[in-house]
Amino acid sequence: MNDTTTVSRCDATTCRFNSDMKCTAGQIEVSMSAHQAQCLTFSPAEGDQGQRPTAQQ
Ligand code: SF4
Repeated sequence: MNDTTTVSRCDATTCRFNSDMKCTAGQIEVSMSAHQAQCLTFSPAEGDQGQRPTAQQ
């Protein structure tokens, strides 16, 4: 056990709270489904706004 953050490791590197695969958000909301945890606090990094893939013909 450690006392750094609620979530010590996170793969969502596109999240603005993700720093070096670690969550820097103080408190997050996570929903558990099956055996996966889905973070409800996920928020895309601001720098990624212009890199949205386009789904056009
Ligand atoms: S807020 Fe959620 S998605 Fe973002 S880094 Fe933390 S645990 Fe990961």
